[in-house]
Amino acid sequence: MIKFCKRCLYSSEHPLGITFNEEGICSGCTIHDEKDQLNWIDRFKRLKKIINTYRSKKRSNYDCIVPVTGAGDSYYVMHIVKNKLKLNPLMVSYNKYFNTPIGINNLANLRMKFDADIIFKNVNLNSVKKITRHTLLEHKNMYWHILAGSTVFPVEVAINYKIPLIIWGAHQGVEQVGMYSHLHEPEMTRRYRHDHHLFNTEPENLYKLDNNLREEDLINYKYPDDKNLNSIGVRGIYLSNFIRWDPTAQHLEMIKKYNFKSAKLQRTFDTYDHVDCYNYMNIHDHLKLLKHGYSKVTDHVCREIRHKRISRYNGSLLVKKYQKQKIKYLDLFSKWLSISKHSLDFVLNRSRNKKYWKEYDINKFKDNTLIKKISVKKEKIFNNFERKYFKRKYKINLDKKEDYIIFGKGYKN
Ligand SMILES: [Zn+2]
Repeated sequence: MIKFCKRCLYSSEHPLGITFNEEGICSGCTIHDEKDQLNWIDRFKRLKKIINTYRSKKRSNYDCIVPVTGAGDSYYVMHIVKNKLKLNPLMVSYNKYFNTPIGINNLANLRMKFDADIIFKNVNLNSVKKITRHTLLEHKNMYWHILAGSTVFPVEVAINYKIPLIIWGAHQGVEQVGMYSHLHEPEMTRRYRHDHHLFNTEPENLYKLDNNLREEDLINYKYPDDKNLNSIGVRGIYLSNFIRWDPTAQHLEMIKKYNFKSAKLQRTFDTYDHVDCYNYMNIHDHLKLLKHGYSKVTDHVCREIRHKRISRYNGSLLVKKYQKQKIKYLDLFSKWLSISKHSLDFVLNRSRNKKYWKEYDINKFKDNTLIKKISVKKEKIFNNFERKYFKRKYKINLDKKEDYIIFGKGYKN
């Protein structure tokens, strides 16, 4: 029996694992309540105490590493690290290759506004394509190289530059499903990366199965060994354990303070999270729906319900509206990957979890996803939510002749 949280829209089917209390409230909502109970001034003092031991003596090296992209919480993390903690960070960015102009612009502007150095990692395109083809066909995942690469690269730089402290934004396990209390201060570990970011698929599992992939294709995706990690004492902390985390409020502040650019995206009302990528809210999000019976808009709605900006009923309407929106840029993606559109459709249909999709005719499926199984009490409809909290000044519009931005230049502002 699938169980739904009485407060948000998550269910017992959540892939990160979720539990329920006697009142039927999920662990994610219960841990979220800590945000209104903890003394965040004390929590921030605790953060300062931790980072003080990492300040470089006589400014002879960087104090910490901050992994960044052209979206997400990069601006907010840099804002805290530079302006509130007064650290000298080295930014690192793994090139995902599906870059949008807005993402490139955000990244260039980030470098200028925070006056910080940055290192990029550009894995050769052949390996990236080979890996993506394989993880899509065998693991129904086209984002693996990005998830694996962007979690390994900061650790590699930490070791090579002897900068032990890596500062991340939100711990998704705490934010979404309440995997730990904020007070447990979970850190980035090999284990968490394996379970959460990679969904149990390590580079080693890839080349064992596929002859086409060579060990050298995967060197950039292997987590450094313990000997190397321990010799530097690498540690990855999450700001969300020390600061009351509210991405929507933070983005509104970042737009005002630093001119972070937001844009209307497919399949969700959130205009901040993934503006740097053509595929995240398209094929990647579609695969999530096919496999897990819900898509990113449910994550966004649950977050907004918990922050009390939308009711459960109005949130459920947004899920219904957005999760069925069509996916864009499939042609470009299949061209990039050198597979036919027909093969891509075949793979997508094969990714459908029978629990959520019943084939009633050849390649025709009945939508039986989680939102159809949930019962929500009707309420007054509130229309102002999207306009009030989600600025959408810019558009991401890929012209037919255009391509992904492989590597973006800086912008003059
Ligand atoms: Zn909940």
